[in-house]
Amino acid sequence: MKIFTSKSELSDALKDLKAQEKQIGLVPTMGALHEGHISLINAARQQTDVVVCSIFVNPTQFTDPSDLEKYPRTVENDIQKLEQAGCDILFLPEVSEMYGHNETWHIDLGYLESILEGQSRPGHYQGVTQIVYKLFQLTSPDKAFFGQKDYQQVLVIRKMTDIFKLPVELIMCPIQRSEEGLALSSRNVHLSPVEKQQAYTLSRALLKMKEHAAEADASAVRQAGLEVLNAEPGIRLDYCEVLDKDTLLAPDAASAGRVALIAASVGKTRLIDNMILN
Ligand code: AMP
Repeated sequence: MKIFTSKSELSDALKDLKAQEKQIGLVPTMGALHEGHISLINAARQQTDVVVCSIFVNPTQFTDPSDLEKYPRTVENDIQKLEQAGCDILFLPEVSEMYGHNETWHIDLGYLESILEGQSRPGHYQGVTQIVYKLFQLTSPDKAFFGQKDYQQVLVIRKMTDIFKLPVELIMCPIQRSEEGLALSSRNVHLSPVEKQQAYTLSRALLKMKEHAAEADASAVRQAGLEVLNAEPGIRLDYCEVLDKDTLLAPDAASAGRVALIAASVGKTRLIDNMILN
């Protein structure tokens, strides 16, 4: 695996590969890699010729400075995992390589930015689109791979690629979970054993909502999830919603399907999870 820390080295390498008509697959990450990330690398390996993974803890998407500070960083370990997974190129820039002084960025994400994660973490999706746009410009990937774990993020990035008419195919890969059902996340390392038990409640609530998926009334489905969540005192719920899976608007008869989304804190750790219901 080649490791580049500068944009110029990366684009030189990619220029050569594109001249050979290789299909480029991009997997953007913030590191502290786990099986969820590796599943994206595997999908990229299957679907493209050259897999580029980026590891960059992007400061502009953090709304809480202490969250940025304590974000796990395990680069040596990450490099080993990527080597084992057959990743071709790792892009590992410093913040100064990605951002100039006083850079500004704003795109109109509309409704998508005013709900769920956008509402709880104002500015988060501006930071996400800012860095993903830079990575797309730099690598011009044929396909880019994102996890369903960050469901709203996939819709936000789709909106960004529509706005700028970027010729990249977005691939959403399924959520990887622990045996107990906990969605894998770099932040799970912060959970104590007791908190981990409490955290399992999120996926149990999602499964309960899936059991109720045949019910036409979305609020009844949501209620079934809330009952599971409210029975666990260790959970501080941010939101539990059942929405149209394509628009994240309230579902109606025309909806092609629904998705249940939960965000909650356990101790000091904020967790998100979701499940497509039907
Ligand atoms: P992150 O490093 O948390 O920014 O995540 C990088 C990419 O990995 C994003 O597209 C995430 O949605 C994806 N990802 C994170 N956790 C999982 C998981 N448990 N299963 C599948 N994809 C995941």
